[in-house]
Amino acid sequence: MSATFAQFFHALPDAVYIIDPATSRIVDGNEKAHASLGLSREQLLAQSVMSLQTGVQGMPAWSEIAEVIRSQAPYRFIGEHRHADGSAVPVEILTSVQYIDGQEYFVSVAREIRERGCSADEDAGRERWQVLHDIAEGVWDWYPQEGRLVFSPNLKSLLGYGPDEMREVLDTWKDNVHPDDRPLVLTKLEDHLAGRRHMFQAEYRLRNRNGHYVWVSDRGRIVLRDEGGEPLRVCGMIHDVTDAKAQELFLQQKADHCPLTGLLNRRRGQERFDEALRGCKREGRPLTALVADLDHFKTINDRFGHQAGDLVLERFGDCIRDVLPRNAITMRWGGEEFVVVLPDCDRMGGETRAERLRAAVARAHWPAPLEGYRITTSIGVASFPEDADSSAQLTSIADQALYRAKRAGRNRVTLALPA
Ligand code: GH3
Ligand code: MG
Ligand code: MG
Repeated sequence: MSATFAQFFHALPDAVYIIDPATSRIVDGNEKAHASLGLSREQLLAQSVMSLQTGVQGMPAWSEIAEVIRSQAPYRFIGEHRHADGSAVPVEILTSVQYIDGQEYFVSVAREIRERGCSADEDAGRERWQVLHDIAEGVWDWYPQEGRLVFSPNLKSLLGYGPDEMREVLDTWKDNVHPDDRPLVLTKLEDHLAGRRHMFQAEYRLRNRNGHYVWVSDRGRIVLRDEGGEPLRVCGMIHDVTDAKAQELFLQQKADHCPLTGLLNRRRGQERFDEALRGCKREGRPLTALVADLDHFKTINDRFGHQAGDLVLERFGDCIRDVLPRNAITMRWGGEEFVVVLPDCDRMGGETRAERLRAAVARAHWPAPLEGYRITTSIGVASFPEDADSSAQLTSIADQALYRAKRAGRNRVTLALPA
């Protein structure tokens, strides 16, 4: 770089970054670039787009963005840069492709959004709606009769896209809603459009371009109708609630599971049991319940200590997960007693599965201090519809069968007696 050109480069009021498209590494940057991030020049050169941009996560996402930059440069992106002090700096970035000595580089010019927003005449000219687009986390503006759905730049950026990407049609949004959430979200939207709900309100997952999903809270309503009362314009706002949702799911998981075995606890297990039984009744399918109890477990505690006993319970949980089908509902019923619910499984299938579990426990190898010790389990089996038609009765009948298994010598599977 010649002396005058370097002076000019460093005196520019906007931050300029030279990027290696292959790795996203910053190969050069002007003074404004490192100053606006609170970094020294050396520190800046150790960064990449992936480390600087809060919205770009992982190489696959970067490669995809690099392709878009090549095909539609200059590429505009609104996102956030990580400042050295930990804060996030909102920036608008324009990136173009340059070749220097045959080598491809991306040149990005970044402007802090708050600087741009400060200009009085710019603000004055803006519509209120535009301001909302800028400050809200994500705004959408849907014109159902024109088939047009406008996404605010922030909303696009939340999903990892630049402001000139994402086709402005309803399908773009629909396609990005998590398939498991889609039916309920669409029903809620239809309910609002048909006047059955005064507002559209939903919490669901939206796909980020990197393939991950962000949890969002979305609220919107009809703001304009035609003479016939049909919606002309529907507006809404989206908030990223991923962190709160992760915390909620974590707490939910903790509240529903036994910490030692990772299986459902009795309260949540019972609810799932009832749900599954209702489903099987409705669709005329069978269901089998197993009650399993470890044999002479007190002796294990007495001989090897409580910790060894805990280890057995933990491993027993693994055994259940390994041996039983994925749709099995497994719960720790009490101390060393477990209930397993097998939806769509009749008495014969249930007996086979119970036998498989019994055999797996009997031949399991146990770690110190239990190596060489043989641990067994007894299992009682009861099935819907022949033995009972409520979860409480099924558990009680399987428990009676378990009691008979114990009396008959343990380490065995016993079916409910015919009614
Ligand atoms: P049986 O073959 O008749 O079932 O005999 P058992 O010794 O397994 O049955 P019993 O009901 O006499 O003893 C169960 C023991 O399980 C007593 C209790 O201390 C122990 N236990 C219950 N919960 C836990 C636990 O969380 N950890 C450990 N280590 N032991 C537990
Ligand atoms: Mg026992
Ligand atoms: Mg017991």
